[in-house]
Amino acid sequence: MGQETLDLMRLHGVPPSSANYEVWLAYRLGRHQALREAIDARIGSGEGFTPEFNAELHERFFSGLGASAQILLAGERIAKDLNEVLGFLRQAEEKNDAYGKKLETAATDLNRGLGPEQIRQIVSSLAAATLDMANHNQTLNEQLRRSSREVETLRTSLENVRMESLTDSLTGLANRRMFDETLKMRIDEARAQRSDLCLVLCDIDHFKRFNDTWGHHTGDQILRFIASALQAHARPDYLVSRYGGEEFAIIMPRVTARAAAQMAETMRAAIQAKRLRRRSTNEDLGQVTVSVGISRLQPGDTTQGLVERADACLYASKRNGRNQVTTDATPVLYVA
Ligand code: GH3
Ligand code: MG
Ligand code: MG
Repeated sequence: MGQETLDLMRLHGVPPSSANYEVWLAYRLGRHQALREAIDARIGSGEGFTPEFNAELHERFFSGLGASAQILLAGERIAKDLNEVLGFLRQAEEKNDAYGKKLETAATDLNRGLGPEQIRQIVSSLAAATLDMANHNQTLNEQLRRSSREVETLRTSLENVRMESLTDSLTGLANRRMFDETLKMRIDEARAQRSDLCLVLCDIDHFKRFNDTWGHHTGDQILRFIASALQAHARPDYLVSRYGGEEFAIIMPRVTARAAAQMAETMRAAIQAKRLRRRSTNEDLGQVTVSVGISRLQPGDTTQGLVERADACLYASKRNGRNQVTTDATPVLYVA
């Protein structure tokens, strides 16, 4: 399969770079209908496979590759490049030695008071050796530039993977891991700056019933709707995250409990006000509501304490009839 792909690429004058190889392997495997059509059309047009067109193909059909796959590919390319660089460096060492010896010999010879013809010979052989060195160094430079580009690609892919690992794939919100990391960081910050910090927990009401009636797929659609409603009302420094299945958490730095309650109330009302329709059939799904619990960082608080209090408030909201916001500003709530 590999050789046949390479042969096909050669037939169309496509250089065997790993990006091109990816494109043509997919073409041969027939995985990508649109890619096949694009390549067949190009062959039909007789315009040929220019570097620009090759790059465009790769960009169009492969730039959406998962970051992990990109890391693998970039890693392989770097390993290959570095091996080539090493080879060049070894050769360069030998070449340097030989060149040094040549210079030394020439210096000694020139000191011996030679005739013009002999001097001319020495100089012309020095010129050839110097040109050879220069060419070699140029190749080495190109090779190094290519490697550093690949390293840059790898760095970007690694950043993407980190982002992926902190993102909830269903809603696009921060995931639990990101929530945990951020909450720790915000608590330290609030202590250092003696500033307010509020934690908002938000749970969909009777979501199981909703799932049972409309199916999991439509349930997922609701999760996305809630996520975007919360995000739409959040300040840029809030972290809106998917805390668990149908639970969301919002970390609000530099916000008093009162302001947090007001913002949560705005979010709750916006969610309740939306008439939901099933995307596939346009059926009316009615409305969905959320219950909310809010805790405020206290002196001597722990992460766990903060979360537990928000959770207790959330539970109080549920117990008091759902679709409401409760904060830990009211101590009576802690009574189980
Ligand atoms: P309550 O008002 O007391 O919160 O009732 P509830 O039905 O929302 O709570 P319960 O904890 O009984 O059920 C939560 C449901 O959330 C159960 C589960 O099917 C659903 N759920 C959790 N994660 C997902 C998800 O990723 N997609 C979908 N569609 N449903 C989910
Ligand atoms: Mg729940
Ligand atoms: Mg629920």
